[in-house]
This record gives sequence, structure tokens and C-alpha cells, in this order.
Amino acid sequence: MKEVLLLKYGELILKGANKNVFENTMLRDIRRKVAPFGSFEVSKAQSTVFVEPTDELADIDGALTACLKIFGIVSICRAAVCEKNMDTILATVKDYIPEYLRGCRSFKADARRSDKSFPYKSPQISAEVGGAVLSCVPGIKVDVNKPDIVVMVEIREKAAYVHAGKFKGAGGMPAGSSGRGLLLLSGGIDSPVAGYMMAKRGVEIEALHFESFPYTSERAREKVLELARILADYTSGIKVHIISLTHIQEELKNNCEEDYFTLLLRRYMMHLADRVAKQYNCRALITGESLAQVASQTMQAIAVTDNASSIPVFRPAIGLDKEEIIQTARKIGTFDTSILPFEDCCTVFTPRHPRTKPELDKVLEQENKLNFKELADEAFATMYTVDIKPE
Ligand code: ATP
Ligand code: MG
Repeated sequence: MKEVLLLKYGELILKGANKNVFENTMLRDIRRKVAPFGSFEVSKAQSTVFVEPTDELADIDGALTACLKIFGIVSICRAAVCEKNMDTILATVKDYIPEYLRGCRSFKADARRSDKSFPYKSPQISAEVGGAVLSCVPGIKVDVNKPDIVVMVEIREKAAYVHAGKFKGAGGMPAGSSGRGLLLLSGGIDSPVAGYMMAKRGVEIEALHFESFPYTSERAREKVLELARILADYTSGIKVHIISLTHIQEELKNNCEEDYFTLLLRRYMMHLADRVAKQYNCRALITGESLAQVASQTMQAIAVTDNASSIPVFRPAIGLDKEEIIQTARKIGTFDTSILPFEDCCTVFTPRHPRTKPELDKVLEQENKLNFKELADEAFATMYTVDIKPE
């Protein structure tokens, strides 16, 4: 029996004139993601994407797993395809559906007829399908209000599709449909989650990591690259730019008041990120900050760091509790890597009493003790890039 995947759109349905652009962006993403699993034809019709194997060798389980990471898709059905003829449909139901109903006590049969030339109306199809299920699955009951599972027949233009149950899709907007953003990626828990959240809203992610060798190690950098690799599975690969802050940090330590170290460092980060963003056509910066989580994430501190960037800074985790961020980190598979105990440049020379309510003029007074531009130029010149391809 031939099986296909039916991918159902989310918010995309609401798009007016540009719907096509969004759809095509998503189709490209789907084609690229299923390609490693064999030969598939990917097409769209009526707010559904069809992923059909074109030969016996295609691995539909693998393609399904890959499709679960496609932004813009809210649900995925694995379906049997058959001819649009009632006898064939009922035979397919009896043959294909029992396996999906194992462990279920109740079901509801449903039908959708987008091909209006099909001679049975939806309620008639549902009734026939319900009868077929009852005849071949012993002990199962019909429950139209709260069924354990819905058995569905869709009569579409090309064929009929029979399925039961559905997988939750990744949601959001198609990868890259919102433009490009620069993620400030540390080795922590929060920034990979922030990157995922913005990628989910259609942002193509480019990453920037700051290191401070020899205060931070080779293994700390490897950990960040591994996080980028996990994120790259959701995006179309990620470029990770790496900049060294070693000299800036040493200069800060030698010339500025300790209480301001973190804030000054974060201003350098934002300034450098702003420059990288311009070079790589990113229209926003993305960070993993969450309000009040640490001293540098108070409203006043955020105002001081924002001031060092000329483009918008997106902080999708700003209103999330740590526990909520962790939940997402587990879901997307970054948590175990994030908690590996390596140092970050933010933890080098940390002040004992960081300012939590900094005033910009006081911060600038400290900043002016250094030659800001020269140090920033020097750091910018250390940048190198690691290009991470999706697995
Ligand atoms: P995370 O868990 O993401 O490291 P955090 O709670 O440890 O965040 P901070 O260390 O204050 O918070 O960092 C706040 C944000 O600044 C991070 O979420 C990240 O976006 C950015 N950031 C921090 N350190 C680095 C770094 N070494 N390279 C790039 N960006 C960084
Ligand atoms: Mg951190």
C-alpha cells in the first residue's frame, strides 16, 4: 500500500497576497529536509503539502521525523493513498487503520470531500468508514465527542487519503520567511532557545560567539559549535562567527571600576554584534536574556546595553521563567549540551557587586577610560567563521 505524508499549514493560511512566497519558501525547506531519506515528490494543494515517495526505497519514517522540524507546519498525517472509489476506500480503511487503533477504546470517523464530484457526501462517507472500522476492530466504540482517535478520509483532487491520528508539527512561520537575524550564542541554556524561538517565527539565523582564549577553552568553543549544530537541524544551516574579547576584557580589568565590568563587556558585545549584523545583512540581534534573571538583565541594564546597538534587539525569552526556558531546551535537544560545565567569557573577571540599576552616563564615563573604537576594531579583526551545515 502506498503511503504519503500530508503536512497541514498553520498561520500561513491567513496570509493574503504573499501566501505563495511563504509557501514556496516552505516547499524548498521541505524538499531539502526530506532529500536525505530518498526520492520524494513534494507538492502543494489546498493548504496541504504532499510528500510522496517516488520509489520503494524512500524512507517515509525518516522523512516524517525530518518534517516534524519544519516551521510553518502545524500537523502531519501519515496516510494511505487509494483510488477515489468507495469500495477501494473501505478496503483500505480495513487494511490500514487497525494498526493505528491499537490501544484505543473509542474513535470517530470523519470525512472531507474537497473533490465535489465524488458521488458521496461527507456524512455518508463518515458513516461508511465508521461501519468499516467497527467491523474490523473488535471492541472499539464510537465516541463523537471525545474520541481517543479520529479516523479520517480525505477525498482530494488526485486521490483519496486514509489516516488516523496526527503528529504535532513545529508550528511558526516558514524558515527564513522573516529575514535574517544575528543570534548572540553563548554556551548557556538561554541563547540556543532564543535562537530556536526566532527561527520558529521565520528568522534565518546567523550566530555570533565571543570567546576569551585562554580564559575560555577550546572545549567551550566546541560546545557552542555543537549547540549550533543542533539548531542547524531546524534552520538551513548556521554560520557561526567567532570574535575574541580577550584584550578588551584585560583592558576593562586594568582600567575600569569592577562593578561595571559586565555592563561594559556587554556593550562591546552589542557594538560588535551590530557590526557583524551589518556585514551579513542581519536586521536584528537576538539574545537569550530573561528579565531579572541576573544583574545585567534588569530594565536599567538592558537599556544600557541596547544603547550600544543601532538595530533592534529581539529577546524572545524576556518573559519566560528559567523552568520554561529549560522545557524548550529539552524539547529542541540543546539542554544536555548547554549544561556541560565549561566557562564563558561572561564568567571571566565577574564583578562581586555588579550594578543592577546602572545609569548610562556613569557607564559611559567608565567606557571613556578606554579607547573604545580602537579596541572594538581590534576585536572585530579577530573574527573567523565556522559554517555549520544541517546534518
Ligand atoms: P545563556 O544561558 O544564553 O548563556 P545567561 O543567562 O547566561 O544566558 P548572560 O551570560 O548574561 O545570560 O548572557 C545574556 C545573553 O548574552 C545570552 O543569552 C547571549 O545571547 C549573550 N551572550 C552571553 N555570553 C555570550 C558569548 N560568549 N557569546 C555570544 N553571546 C553571548
Ligand atoms: Mg551565559
